[in-house]
Amino acid sequence: MEEKNSVRTGTNSVWAGEKDYLAHGATQVPVVHSVAYNYNDVDEWYEVATGKRKGHIYGRNTNPTVQSFEDKVKILEQAEAATSFSTGMAAISNSLLTILKPGDRIVSIKDTYGGTNKIFSEFLPRLNIDVELVETGNHEEMEKEIAKGCKLVYLETPTNPTVKITDIVRITKAAKKVNALVFVDNTFATPINQNPLTLGVDLVIHSATKFLGGHADALGGVVCGSKELVDAIYHYREINGATMDPMAAYLIIRGMKTLQLRVEKQQENAWKVAQFLQQHDKIEAVFYPGLENHINHDIAKKQMKGFGGMLSFALKGEMEAVRQFLPKLKFAHRAANLGAVETTVGPARTTSHVENTPEERAALGIPEGLVRYSAGIEDIEDLLYDLKQALDSIKA
Ligand SMILES: *Cc1c(COP(=O)(O)O)cnc(C)c1O
Repeated sequence: MEEKNSVRTGTNSVWAGEKDYLAHGATQVPVVHSVAYNYNDVDEWYEVATGKRKGHIYGRNTNPTVQSFEDKVKILEQAEAATSFSTGMAAISNSLLTILKPGDRIVSIKDTYGGTNKIFSEFLPRLNIDVELVETGNHEEMEKEIAKGCKLVYLETPTNPTVKITDIVRITKAAKKVNALVFVDNTFATPINQNPLTLGVDLVIHSATKFLGGHADALGGVVCGSKELVDAIYHYREINGATMDPMAAYLIIRGMKTLQLRVEKQQENAWKVAQFLQQHDKIEAVFYPGLENHINHDIAKKQMKGFGGMLSFALKGEMEAVRQFLPKLKFAHRAANLGAVETTVGPARTTSHVENTPEERAALGIPEGLVRYSAGIEDIEDLLYDLKQALDSIKA
């Protein structure tokens, strides 16, 4: 069958990466649950096992459904190669452990995803890896730390939960001067809004659990980059075993068909919610990169095609106000998830940064009364009415 790749992301979300995996004339990628693959011909088996011929050997290594998912993301991220994982955190930890060794130094930002931050603060130091975390958005400080020399620069932009932005081109330039690799967690932006590989980055990481899947019913992770780097990470993962399940791959492929539609609607809703909250007198602050008063609005405008579906806001009255406000929302799950078709809300202290102590959260610049809001695809009138009645119910 002919290639089904376009230069446009909406078409690729629907068609890309599937044609090699369709069987028996089916129009949908099958879920291949087989653990192992049968070879009567020992020579053919040997060729597949040694990578000289296409095929599959054992489910911990590769699987056709999982590969179709990887191909779809690879095309959307305009990458040479992609490999997948059981979760986003597995994608992050496996990628870090593939390239880092004792004595290495990495430079990153303070407000990465809570789990990533735990790897930096707890697990990497144990391996005698030096982690330097700079204030998110302080590009001068970051350039200074990078210039001292490092193996890796690790970015996440926009960040979770305060939606701060790092200038990818600027920081990548600094990293290349000292021959450092650059990894970017692109979970919040999605390939619809941002393609870090085209900005010179070495590896793009996604928690596929979030926007890629979009339906909060499957866990997964994926990384994209050069064949050389991705092959090395794949090798670490195939041995260490954090493999994506074929059923999860199938669900995420199905979710990805509507990726562009969902992201467009989610960011339209997020934008309207941010504007509404900004003028509400019970709101202390709103963080959304699409707002002109957002500290990194100009960078976001330059490097992103859209501002995404994530925002956060601080209520006047802090945690007590949050306690009154959240249960009143009708069209929102109070849950530790984001990027789904349903609007999902949660305080940072029970979601992204639940692993951190109050002192650690304060050091990361996360107010205890901060609410993270992942806009769904509902009708905006319902979301705004819902927010209004919940805010009105807060007693001073
Ligand atoms: C959720 C998330 C992760 C971790 O992904 P899991 O699939 O939950 O392991 C990493 N980075 C960001 C930005 C996330 O939102």
